[in-house]
Amino acid sequence: MSNNPLQQYFRQPKIYVSLPSQGVYNAPGMIQGDVNKIPVYGMTGMDEIMARTPDALLTGESTVKIIESCCPSIKNAWDLSSLDTELIFSAIRIATYGNKLGVSSTCQHCDHSNSYDIDLSFIIEHFSNCKFDNQVVLENLIVKIQPLTYKRKSEFAMKNFQLQQKLNQVDFMENEDEKRLKIVELFKEMGNIQNEIYIQCVESVEADNRVVTERPFITEWLLNCDRAVFDKIKEQIEKNQKLWSIPDFPAICEECKGEIKLRLDLDQSNFFVLA
Ligand SMILES: [Zn+2]
Repeated sequence: MSNNPLQQYFRQPKIYVSLPSQGVYNAPGMIQGDVNKIPVYGMTGMDEIMARTPDALLTGESTVKIIESCCPSIKNAWDLSSLDTELIFSAIRIATYGNKLGVSSTCQHCDHSNSYDIDLSFIIEHFSNCKFDNQVVLENLIVKIQPLTYKRKSEFAMKNFQLQQKLNQVDFMENEDEKRLKIVELFKEMGNIQNEIYIQCVESVEADNRVVTERPFITEWLLNCDRAVFDKIKEQIEKNQKLWSIPDFPAICEECKGEIKLRLDLDQSNFFVLA
C-alpha cells in the first residue's frame, strides 16, 4: 500500500521519559531505542474506549494495550518492569490530558470534602530519583532481588482482589464455626500469595562460586531456609516496595486548614479517563 497522505496528521509524541529501571530487567529487544528517551503519545479514541471498560482494566489487559499504543517502543507491556509502570501511566495521562489530575479527598479532621489539582510531573520526578537495591548479602550467600513484571504484579493483585471479595462474603455466613474456619482458610491463602511474591522477587542466589537461577531450586531453598534468612530477604523486598511507591501528596484542607495526605492510585479506571 502506498504511503497514507494523512500520515503527517497522525499523533506525535508529546513527551519523552526515562525508564526508571533502565530496561535492565527486560529481555533484549523488548524496549526499542533509548531507554532514557521513550516517546509517549497521547491516547487515541480507541484507547479511551478501552480505558472505560472496568473489567478489562482489572486484569491489566486494556492497560497493556494502552501502554503499547502510547509507547510504541515498548513491545510487550506485560513484561514491563513494575518499576516503570506508574511512571508510564503518569506520562500517558500527561500526554493525553496535560499535567493536571483532579483529586477529591475528605478531610480526616473536619470531614470537609476538598478538591485539588495535582501536577503529575511530581510523579515523574519521584521515580527519576528512585534506586532499586537489588542485593542481599548473607553469611555465605549473595541473593539478587528483582522487581515483578507488570504481568506478575497484575496476577497477584487479581488474586488478592478475589480473596478480598470472598472475605467480604464471609460476613454473611450464619454459622459462626464455619465463618471462623473460612476466615482462617482465606488468610492462609493470602499468606501463600505473599510468599509467592517473595519467591518471584528472588532473581538468583550465589553460593559456593555458583549462581543458581533455576526457579525450582530457589523456591525449594526459600521454603527450607532459616526464618532469619527469609526475613532479611523479605525486609529488602519491602524496603524497595516502600521506596518505589508514590509518596502521599501533601495538601491543606480549605475549611479547617489542617494537613491532608493524598494517596494516588494510578492503575485504576478513573486514571485514564477524564471525569
Ligand atoms: Zn478539614
